[in-house]
Amino acid sequence: MLDNLYPESVEESGKFLRLTLQSISKHELPYNPITYAVWYEYATGRNEQLIQHIQTLEKDKVDVSFEIVLTLFRTFIADSQMLLTEKKAREFQTILGQMTEQLGNSGSKLDDRGNTLKKYARKLDQTTSLEAVSIIAKNIVSETEAVVASGQTLKKQMDATTSEIDTLKKELEGIKQAAKTDMLTGLLNRRGLDETLSNALENSLDNNKPFSIILADIDHFKKVNDSHGHLIGDNVLKMLAKLLKEHIKGKDIAARFGGEEFIMVLPDTPLKGAYVLAEQIRMSLRNMKWTSKSSGKSIDAITISLGVAQYKTGEPVKSMIQRADNALYFAKGNGRNKTVTELDIQEA
Ligand code: GH3
Ligand code: MG
Ligand code: MG
Repeated sequence: MLDNLYPESVEESGKFLRLTLQSISKHELPYNPITYAVWYEYATGRNEQLIQHIQTLEKDKVDVSFEIVLTLFRTFIADSQMLLTEKKAREFQTILGQMTEQLGNSGSKLDDRGNTLKKYARKLDQTTSLEAVSIIAKNIVSETEAVVASGQTLKKQMDATTSEIDTLKKELEGIKQAAKTDMLTGLLNRRGLDETLSNALENSLDNNKPFSIILADIDHFKKVNDSHGHLIGDNVLKMLAKLLKEHIKGKDIAARFGGEEFIMVLPDTPLKGAYVLAEQIRMSLRNMKWTSKSSGKSIDAITISLGVAQYKTGEPVKSMIQRADNALYFAKGNGRNKTVTELDIQEA
């Protein structure tokens, strides 16, 4: 299955690796997982849209900056991120294979030299002529030097391969992290959330602790975009993400749930605790003063509506999310800029 998806041979993946490095250096780009991912994908020749886009840039002699590479990554690669990570994993296997082969070769050369030395030692035992002893001694010296040199070559090869593997490991980690992270806010994205949510829940339940979530959605965000532009909208999202991060601690997680919707995952927290936190966040945001840096004009207060729910033992996680979403919907329908818990809607 993997073979069909990634059919490149050892030689091919080596070639792609070299082309990738050439492209990064040609465009004087920083060497990081994002640039690496874009140019590797380009080198494989399989991503037609990406290729067309890059060819147009090159034809128009556009100076390909990191910003542009980042956009290419977000547009043409981020979606197929998981495939890319698998591909990286395969590259590791290839390099590990090459390393084993190299070590095998160097090792057998070293064995040969060891045997030659043993042969000379035996000859030395049997000989009495001074001249012969001198010749054998010279041979032993030169063989010993060769053994030392082989040993050093082997060490150098090992060092080079180890650092290559280290670099790839770091890149793989970087790419995995990028796949889980929302580019705009730096919070976990939906995929990152899915990965961490079930772990957090399990831990909490194993320790017999309550577990709650908060969903938060910006009020009338469309209006913010329409009146002040998308860039200001983006800045509002970034500021809100920062505010959420400042309000969580320890095992808590904040993630971007969708466009202008966020989720906070709160292990060891009962519904009441989650409500108190939601209210603190809502008030802090409500009290923030906003001004457009470009026009200097003040922007109306940004508010959020929040829905809170606590996990019930045995239920699927999505049921808890649904109850938080129902509470949020209720807050929206009842004036916005409010926190509503699942209990409030039962009582309503
Ligand atoms: P409500 O109070 O009912 O939530 O109203 P709303 O306008 O916030 O909700 P609606 O779902 O109608 O619109 C959400 C808007 O969020 C529309 C979309 O353009 C904007 N949005 C989503 N993601 C982003 C983003 O990454 N950047 C910016 N600037 N806007 C975004
Ligand atoms: Mg909204
Ligand atoms: Mg929304």
